[in-house]
Amino acid sequence: MNDFEYRGGELFCEGVRLKDVINKYGTPLYVYSRKSICENFDRLSGAFKGIGHLICFSVKSCSSLGVLKVLKEKGSGFDIVSGGELFRTEEIGADMSKVVFAGVGKTNDEIEYALEQNILMFNIESEQEMERIDSVAGDLGIKAGIAVRINPDVDTKTHKYITTGKSENKFGVDTKKGYDLYKKAAGLKNLEIKGIQMHIGSQITEIGPYVNAVRKVKQLAEEVVRDIHPIEYLDIGGGMGIIYKDEKPFDVGAFAENVIKEVKPLGVKLIIEPGRYIAGNSGVLLTQVQYFKKSSDKNFVIVDAGINDLIRPSLYGAYHRIEPVSIREKNRILCDIVGPICESGDFLAKDREMSAVAQDDYLCVFGAGAYGFVMSSNYNSRPRAAEILVNGSEEAMIRKREEYLDLTRLENANM
Ligand SMILES: *Cc1c(COP(=O)(O)O)cnc(C)c1O
Repeated sequence: MNDFEYRGGELFCEGVRLKDVINKYGTPLYVYSRKSICENFDRLSGAFKGIGHLICFSVKSCSSLGVLKVLKEKGSGFDIVSGGELFRTEEIGADMSKVVFAGVGKTNDEIEYALEQNILMFNIESEQEMERIDSVAGDLGIKAGIAVRINPDVDTKTHKYITTGKSENKFGVDTKKGYDLYKKAAGLKNLEIKGIQMHIGSQITEIGPYVNAVRKVKQLAEEVVRDIHPIEYLDIGGGMGIIYKDEKPFDVGAFAENVIKEVKPLGVKLIIEPGRYIAGNSGVLLTQVQYFKKSSDKNFVIVDAGINDLIRPSLYGAYHRIEPVSIREKNRILCDIVGPICESGDFLAKDREMSAVAQDDYLCVFGAGAYGFVMSSNYNSRPRAAEILVNGSEEAMIRKREEYLDLTRLENANM
């Protein structure tokens, strides 16, 4: 699943020794494997070869231009959720006819921008949004391609912050409302019905609820096609789970088989919006041990990466495997791995057994490629980490480390 492995106690990414990368670029440092990104893309695309499909990489999961460019070269489209993400796809010269735009809060400006770029379709999340898109498109004299995002009300049994397909979640509309919205869309002259969409959550590891949701959306699609308008694209969203610790994610081959069986008779083209599946295990966060501190009941390993660099452990209780970049010690210790941020919630791991480490050693936080750097902040006025993309035996810096001046560049103390 990934191209980070130990050789003689030294951690490599593809053909590059990570210790060498650290010596060159410092820490905290995000490192991505081009090969992993491509292999994950190919595996998913291969699983769906039995049906016409388009993979739209979820930009929010890992949005650095260097990574997006790799995916563009693979033929990927993009799933965006903001004007800023649209700008990123524009920056890499993405094919806008492969861009879909989701999100519950699209502003007038964002809609206008996306219409001018001629994206494939808006995934509409409410009636008011539909009216707004119709009106903005009318002003511009452009027809807007649309799909309605359906909330199929299924429980994916994932973390409550990353489930999006239950009726209590803010996303999409229920199937009944969805039908009404298609009726309405058919009467709005600046909209063109292109698809139907769902995205029920993230880090989904069970096929059952996912396929049930696809079935519900397919049934609605059949009604829309029968009563209202043809549908060209059925977009099933993303959310395919990966292994962080000991999860048992479903096999994408079996998943694809089930999905294809459901939707093939409709004669639609499938859109898939993976983020984590492609980026999650394709990236790591490297950090340096600053201090080792013992209290009466804990060992604290204090490192130079904190929740400002990787918030997932703190926000979702997420587990990330953490091991030294160079393994020298056989004995294991039980420790909390914590960052430098002045918050008790600033930790990368709690009560973790790990190879013993010494001051100045380097640690690798695995599985940090998705929802890692993109969620980083300048909290405590800490510059954001640099990002490196490895390709075989070479590496390139795809984002410079921020400097102190970057922290205050937009500020003015003399108002
Ligand atoms: C976040 C998101 C995705 C990607 O989710 P993953 O769990 O990373 O695959 C896909 N589609 C939409 C609409 C999203 O908001």
